[in-house]
Amino acid sequence: MTPLLVEYCQYPTVIRVLEEEWPTPPPPETIFAVFADSIENGRFCGLVSAYDILSHPNWIFADLAEHRPVFTIDQGSSVYEALAKMDTCGQEALAIIDENKQFIGVVTRICILQTLLEREQSQTKETTNLRALEQLEYKKILEWSERLSTLHEASKSLLGVLAHNCVEKDLLQTGIEALQKLLQASYGAIAFIDNENNLTHFVHTGISPEQAELIGRLPEGKGLLGVVIDKDVSLLIDDISKDPRSVGFPPNHPPMKSLLAVPISYLNNVFGRIYLSDKLNGEPFNSDDETLVKSFARSLSLALENSREMDEIRKKQEHLDYLAHFDTLTGLPNRTLFTDRVKQTIARSHRKKQQFAILFIDLDNFKLVNDNLGHSQGDVLLKEAASRIACNLRENDTIARLGGDEFTVILPDLTDSQDAGIVSEKIIRAIVEPFKIDSHEIHISASVGIAVYPKDANSLEPLLANADIAMYHAKNMGKNNYQFFARDMNAAAQMHLKLERHLRKAIEKNELLLHFQPQIDVATQKIVGMETLLRWQSKEMGLIEPNRFIPIAEETGLIISIGEWVLYKACMQAKLWHEAGLGIPVAVNLSPRQLQPQGGINQFFEIICRVLEKTGLPPHMLELEITESIMMQHVDSNLDILNRLKNMGLQFSVDDFGTGYSSLSYLKRLPIDTLKIDKSFIRDIHIDANDAAIVTAITVMAQQLGLNVVAEGVETSSQFEFLQNLYCQSVQGYFFSRPIDAESATIMLEQAAPRRSRKKKK
Ligand code: C2E
Ligand code: CA
Ligand code: CA
Repeated sequence: MTPLLVEYCQYPTVIRVLEEEWPTPPPPETIFAVFADSIENGRFCGLVSAYDILSHPNWIFADLAEHRPVFTIDQGSSVYEALAKMDTCGQEALAIIDENKQFIGVVTRICILQTLLEREQSQTKETTNLRALEQLEYKKILEWSERLSTLHEASKSLLGVLAHNCVEKDLLQTGIEALQKLLQASYGAIAFIDNENNLTHFVHTGISPEQAELIGRLPEGKGLLGVVIDKDVSLLIDDISKDPRSVGFPPNHPPMKSLLAVPISYLNNVFGRIYLSDKLNGEPFNSDDETLVKSFARSLSLALENSREMDEIRKKQEHLDYLAHFDTLTGLPNRTLFTDRVKQTIARSHRKKQQFAILFIDLDNFKLVNDNLGHSQGDVLLKEAASRIACNLRENDTIARLGGDEFTVILPDLTDSQDAGIVSEKIIRAIVEPFKIDSHEIHISASVGIAVYPKDANSLEPLLANADIAMYHAKNMGKNNYQFFARDMNAAAQMHLKLERHLRKAIEKNELLLHFQPQIDVATQKIVGMETLLRWQSKEMGLIEPNRFIPIAEETGLIISIGEWVLYKACMQAKLWHEAGLGIPVAVNLSPRQLQPQGGINQFFEIICRVLEKTGLPPHMLELEITESIMMQHVDSNLDILNRLKNMGLQFSVDDFGTGYSSLSYLKRLPIDTLKIDKSFIRDIHIDANDAAIVTAITVMAQQLGLNVVAEGVETSSQFEFLQNLYCQSVQGYFFSRPIDAESATIMLEQAAPRRSRKKKK
C-alpha cells in the first residue's frame, strides 16, 4: 500500500493573513498562516494558533509569528514522516510547502489520524465490494462509519483541547462521551492527577451526576486503576472480578465487568488515565479499541505536557516579551516595538497607497520638574502625561515612549494629513492642563513635531528624524505648539540634533579637551591665573565652539557629567603645575545646571570634594566662575554651598559681570573674590564714553567692596592702556594670549617663572 502523503491530510480551517493585521478573537480550531506583503504569494512567516492570539491580546500577527522557528514539511512527505517530525519538534501542526518553498497548507496530528481511519474505511469498503457483500461485513462497515463519525467529533473536541493548550473540563467531557459512543461502552471516565496522586480533573459518562455524587472514593493509586498509573500500562480485562489485582469498587459504585484502561502519559510522566467499561453488546474490548483509546490518550498527554510546559514558558516569555517591547514605567510600547510598528505601517501604507503621520512629542521643561520635585514625582507626571496623550488617540493609533520625556505616536490611514495637526492640538491642550501631584500643581506643556509618510520620508529613520526636527522647530517657536516638518527646517535643527547625538559620546571618545587662557596682573604683567576653557574636537565635525555645544549640554543635562570631567581635568593640570613649582590657580566655568539640585539633592558640594580629594589640589588653587544668573537661582541652598566651599579655601568670581542684574547689596552677601567685567564693555572702552564710565564705576565699586577686577576680552594695547589708568588689577584677552592647550600653557608658565623657583622636570 502506498504511504499516505501529507498534502492529502490538510487541515481544513486555515486562514491566510497578513503580518500587519490585528487578530479578532478567533474560533478555537482556527489556524492562521501569516504572510508578509501578500497573502497569495508573499513570504510565509509562520503559523499562529487561536491560543497564541488569546495569550497576547495586543499583538498583531507579525508580533505573534516573529520570534519563533517556522516548522515545515515538504508536500511529498508521508504522514509518517510528518508524525515523526511533529514528535521531534514537539509540534501538533506543520506547514506544508511545495518544491518552491511556497506555503500550501497545514497538516496536524489529528488530521492524519482521521485521514488514516477514513482510508481504512474506504479500503474496507473496497474489499467488501469485491467480495460478495456479507451481511455481517456490511454491518461492520456501517459500524466503522459510525465510529468514524464519532471519532471525528472526538477529534474535533480534542483539537479544541490542543488549540487551547490547556485542558478544559468541557472539552474533556465531550472527549469521553465521544469515546464512549465510539466503543459502545456503558461507562467511561477521564481522570487527571497531580504529582501527589490527587485528582485534579475528573469527567465521567454513563453515570448520572446524582448517582456519581453518592459514590465513595477508594484511595487513589489502589487497585486496577492504580496499576495503570503506577506501571504506566494499559489494561484490557474481560472480567474485573476475576483479576487478582482488583480491590473491588468504592461504595455505591455500579458493578462493572469488562475494562479498558489506558494511562495518559508522556515520557514516563503519568498525568492520569482513561477508562471505559462494559460494552453494550456484552463483548469484551478488543485491541482495535485499545489502539483508538491509546491514540486519544497520546494526544491528551501531549496537550497536557504542552500546557504545563507552556504555562512555565509563557510566564517567563511573557515577562521577557514585556520587558523587550514595553516601557515598564508607563506600560506603553518602547522604542523596539514602536520601530516594528512603524515598519509594518510603512509596508501597509505602501501597499494601500495611503499616508500616515508620526508625531514626536517632547514635554517642555520636564527636566525642571524632575530636578525640583525628584524622580518619583517626575515618574508620576510621565505616567499621567502618557495617559492624557493616549486618551486623545483612536484605537488603531500606536503611542510609544522612547525614553525620558519623549513620546511618539503613529496615526495610520490618514485621508487628510492636516488631521495630524488636529490630533496634536488636542494632545497639547491635554498636557497644558495643570497636573496635580501630591500637594503640587504642576504646569508643563508639550512640543509636537509631525512627519507624514510618504511626503516627508518613506522609510523609518528619516521619517523619525524629520518628526524630531519638526519637534525642535516647535521648541524654537516658543514651545507648547506643533509643527509640520518642512524641508527648510532641516539645516539648523538637523545640526542641533547631530550635535546632541555626538555630544553624548564625546567624553567616551576622548574628544573633549581643555584650553587655558592666562590672566595678567596689570601692574607687574605677570600671569596670576589661568581660565579653563572647554574645547570639543569632534572626529566627525571638527572643532566646535563651547557657545555652540554648552547650551545643548545644559538642555540635555549632559553638562553634569561634562562639568565634573572639566573640574577633574582642570584640577589635575593645576596640581601638575603646582608640583612643578609653577603654582598658579585655575578658574573653572560653571553652568547653572551644575548647581541645580538633582532629584531634590544638591550634589555639587560632594562633586567638588571628590575632585579635590582625587587630584590632591589645595582648595585655594581652584577658582569657580559663576554667572549672575546662577546666583539668582536657588539662592538659599546655593549660598550655603558657596559658603561651605569658601570656608574650605576655594575662590569665587562673577563671570560676564555687567550683563546681568545683580544688585550691590546682593553682591555683598556672596562669598565673592573677583568680578570679571564682560568683554562687551571692554571692546569700545577707548572710544565709547558710556562703556568707559561703566567700567570705571565697576572698578571703583569693586575696590570699595574689597574685590578684585579682571577685564575680559582685552585685544589691543589701547584697551590695555586705558584699563591701566583705571587701576583695574588684571586683564585677560587675545592681547596677551589666546586660549592655548595645556602643553603650550606649561611652556608659557615656565618661561614666565623666575628661574630659581622652578623645579627640575622629571
Ligand atoms: P567666558 O567664560 O566668558 O569665556 C571667555 C570667552 O572669551 C572664551 O570663549 C574666550 O576664548 C573668549 N576670549 C578670550 N579673550 C578674548 C578676546 O580678547 N576677544 C574675544 N572676542 N574673545 C576672547 P570660548 O572659549 O569660546 O568660551 C565661550 C564661553 O563658553 C565661555 O565664556 C563660557 O561661558 C563657556 N565655557 C567655556 N568653557 C566652559 C566650561 O568648561 N564650562 C562651562 N560651563 N562653560 C564653559
Ligand atoms: Ca569665564
Ligand atoms: Ca566671561
